[in-house]
Amino acid sequence: MSEKLYTAEIAPGVWQIGENEPGETPVDAYLILGSEQGLVVDALFFREDLYETVRKLTPLPLDLVLTHGHPDHAGRSVEGFLKAGCPVWMDPADHELLAHMPGAPDLSRLSPLKAGQLFELGGRRLTVIPCPGHTPGSVVLLDRAWQQLFSGDSVGSGQFWMQIDGCLPLKEFSRSLDRLWDEVEDLPLLKIYPGHRFQSPVQLNLQYLEDVRTITRHLADGSWEGEETVMEFGGSLLPYRHLAYGMMLDYCYDPKRLG
Ligand SMILES: [Zn+2]
Repeated sequence: MSEKLYTAEIAPGVWQIGENEPGETPVDAYLILGSEQGLVVDALFFREDLYETVRKLTPLPLDLVLTHGHPDHAGRSVEGFLKAGCPVWMDPADHELLAHMPGAPDLSRLSPLKAGQLFELGGRRLTVIPCPGHTPGSVVLLDRAWQQLFSGDSVGSGQFWMQIDGCLPLKEFSRSLDRLWDEVEDLPLLKIYPGHRFQSPVQLNLQYLEDVRTITRHLADGSWEGEETVMEFGGSLLPYRHLAYGMMLDYCYDPKRLG
């Protein structure tokens, strides 16, 4: 295991905290600091020391929000936040998914995230916007004033997995993206901070979101189709289709799950 987590202040009061274990896709959590309160977005995969790492950056009270129930975002570090008495929030629609993952936290100790829920940090505010698709309970967090969107895996990060079990049909995801677009289309400087930030060679922005929305709409209505391919996943071969468009480098989907 690497010695330290990667930490960098990527915008005023916003820290990217990354886990980069050999053989694994690097994964990121974020710490957002207001004057009164801190908000941690996601809890990494294998590392258990995210709480201690955050504590070195701030003494403020903390909430932890899990953007979805995949184990590389709701991993072993959840326990440290629960032990410290911090509320840990997740959309209950992902409980079933997370319950089947090895090392899952005690789900009865998680607090239920709600659409429109606000996290008031003192001088900055984040709003919870559900974005079901990658998982049924995927959410994003929007800071309108700073034009920042913390997106987990909800819209991918240059590569996007919609081909695995638990992903919703693309028609349903397309409706989620339309609702999300309504919330952000007036934010031209929007910066998207995803759960795997270094997967994309560039800073993701509003154009990226528009590209994801365009691909999803065309795939869902059958007007576009990706190339067939196969990957090894969970010990077996998983056939799927994929395509690139605009800033989206690799959109992976299951052709049997369009609508
Ligand atoms: Zn995921």
